[in-house]
Amino acid sequence: MFADLHLHTHFSDGTFSPEEVVARGRRAGFAALALTDHDTVEGCARMAVACQAAGIEFIVGSELTAEHKDTELHILGYFLDVTDQKLLTELARFQVVRQSRIREMVARLNELDVPLDADEVFALANCSSPGRPHVARALVQAELCSSLDEAFELYLKKNRPAWVPKFKMSALEAIELVHQAGGLAVMAHPGLNHADELIPDLVAAGLDGLECFHTKHSKRVARHYFEMAEKLNLLVTGGSDCHGKSKGRPLIGTVKLGYAHVEKLKTAWKERHPPVASPAPLPAGGERPG
Ligand code: AMP
Ligand code: FE
Ligand code: FE
Ligand code: ZN
Repeated sequence: MFADLHLHTHFSDGTFSPEEVVARGRRAGFAALALTDHDTVEGCARMAVACQAAGIEFIVGSELTAEHKDTELHILGYFLDVTDQKLLTELARFQVVRQSRIREMVARLNELDVPLDADEVFALANCSSPGRPHVARALVQAELCSSLDEAFELYLKKNRPAWVPKFKMSALEAIELVHQAGGLAVMAHPGLNHADELIPDLVAAGLDGLECFHTKHSKRVARHYFEMAEKLNLLVTGGSDCHGKSKGRPLIGTVKLGYAHVEKLKTAWKERHPPVASPAPLPAGGERPG
């Protein structure tokens, strides 16, 4: 039994609907899936319904864009309470930041005489958590770039002329936000950050796990983080980070996390949330003492 705990839909910068992700997850034989769209949990309700219909276990998640010591880090939250008001307020705040950033990037493109309209990007994105991939797709759709790669290379990559830095929450706050919403906090794709020296700070802030298995982790890198997780007594997660068809071939099915790790996640979550003992029933006509 296997799981993929890192998936995106069109509720952020993936191209698949939750239903399409689940259909593909089912064909790939997954026992459990988590949805981890960027800075949103909006797709989770539909994903839960689709998973239930497919007989797949669903884990609510989100991938929070954060930073620590000037390095961008992604914090995965699992088992989040999607009705938690603080979580929803913070996510809404960062969605507004993303939307303003789209307008700024489009304004910079316009200064470069690239006639893109922000509304074209918003219409194409059709989600509250838009990002650079949507700008890239809009540039290709408007025939202003020949490919997504070209859009990033010419304009959108860090320090290219239409790149706008993104205001991010601190990674330590992201861990706290996940915890107060009842979730477990996992550092996404640490192998892409080349910032292992930051991990002790995250652990001190209560980080619960490391995403050891990821599409862009080689076997050697995966082993490195697996051993680190063992040493630091952290949970182990993994996923494909599938964005649908936006980055070539859909990645779902290429990373298979052993289900034993899902069991460990669930055990850790249950230990954190012991069932509340229900008060003893009142005797008929009796009054509760005290
Ligand atoms: P944002 O959160 O708006 O900064 O956008 C980040 C997203 O853009 C991530 O999903 C990345 O995978 C994607 N991305 C970043 N750089 C590139 C690139 N050079 N080519 C294609 N996609 C990229
Ligand atoms: Fe993404
Ligand atoms: Fe990420
Ligand atoms: Zn991701």
